[in-house]
Amino acid sequence: MSVNHKNYYSLKEELGKMNVALIAVSKTKPISDILELYELGHRDFGENYVQELVNKAEQLPKDIRWHFIGHLQSNKVKYIAAFVHLIHGVDSLKLLKEINKQGAKENRIIECLLQIHIAEEESKFGFDEAELNVAITSLKDLRNVQINGLMGMASFTEDTHKVKTEFRTLKQIFINSLKQSSDQYKPTVLSMGMSGDYKIAIEEGSTMVRIGSLLFGERDYSNKTS
Ligand SMILES: *Cc1c(COP(=O)(O)O)cnc(C)c1O
Repeated sequence: MSVNHKNYYSLKEELGKMNVALIAVSKTKPISDILELYELGHRDFGENYVQELVNKAEQLPKDIRWHFIGHLQSNKVKYIAAFVHLIHGVDSLKLLKEINKQGAKENRIIECLLQIHIAEEESKFGFDEAELNVAITSLKDLRNVQINGLMGMASFTEDTHKVKTEFRTLKQIFINSLKQSSDQYKPTVLSMGMSGDYKIAIEEGSTMVRIGSLLFGERDYSNKTS
């Protein structure tokens, strides 16, 4: 288990040219892997599980920017509210309200992305465009959150045309939402693309990719409970 340096440097170069941010997805990976990438200068890491993120954040340097990219349950927001850098997968108004509440307790404004449902699979979470508009409108009552943009996951399929179409839909929703910009809705980030589909995502206008296995190798979930 260790970091693929070659992939890291070639990704950095490829993404740098396009001004696309790289989130290194370290879920299920050991502290030593994160430190290895940290030593190369990387600071943005993504995690999917609250308990795992809390454990890692306690042990690792404080200047790491932690991105929560998984499905976040409302009752767990309180554990990460004090330190999380960006929550990518905000997929309900209920969750947004809870993040706002915990942000107020911590006396900070928590930055988030709203997740848009673009994939065909039912299991993927997120708003549709109408729900997005409602969420943006509700922000005026939620003073301890700021929305920096949108996030989405394409279908898990070999059909690249389908993936492309889904990313294109997300980009269009992003563009449509620009007219609702305010001091709390500042859409500059479009988080889309993972190891398998990031090239398509960039072609379709991604500004932030979330990459795990290309950097850290395949994940092993065999001893994972949640
Ligand atoms: C795990 C995960 C990733 C990274 O996946 P890879 O295919 O390993 O790059 C990106 N985004 C989300 C939301 C994830 O859960």
